[in-house]
Amino acid sequence: MDNWQQGWWLPARRADSPNFSPRENGETVSLVVLHNISLPPFEYGTGAVEKLFTNRINPKEHPFFSAIHPLRVSSHFFIDRKGAAVQFVSCDDAAYHAGVSSFRGRGKCNAFSIGIELEGCDFEPFTDVQYQSLNILLRALAARYPIEAVTGHQYIAPGRKSDPGHFFDWVRVAEGGIAIVR
Ligand SMILES: [Zn+2]
Repeated sequence: MDNWQQGWWLPARRADSPNFSPRENGETVSLVVLHNISLPPFEYGTGAVEKLFTNRINPKEHPFFSAIHPLRVSSHFFIDRKGAAVQFVSCDDAAYHAGVSSFRGRGKCNAFSIGIELEGCDFEPFTDVQYQSLNILLRALAARYPIEAVTGHQYIAPGRKSDPGHFFDWVRVAEGGIAIVR
């Protein structure tokens, strides 16, 4: 069974973000970029990540939110600590997750990549069910798109970004079946 519909992966809950651009004609989706995020920093399960990616964050709710609420960012997917996946942007469109970045000499990675945010931070391990969900998603992506590699934000924006970080176990992503480049 094909679990895809116009770039939407049906097993994920859908929460549309307005923060995306159509991919250029003829562009192929060849890269997966992994990130970590927690909002407020180091707090889990607050719902704030989904609010950020859908431009609904309340700047008065937390001092950190007033700093980030003007941001217009998104990822394709978010996998929470319990392994549940949410999709914000069709994989056929470009989400705003990588920023200034370069992979194998090519800049602006948003144009040709898919972004996956794992709920977490740079300072503690991710959960077993996150790796399980991530690998299921990676296999689905590899079956649908000509993905050549999976990498981390820290490797395409070195010095500027540090996620998914030291605690992310790349060995466990091998099950996803996509070549790891870092
Ligand atoms: Zn990131």
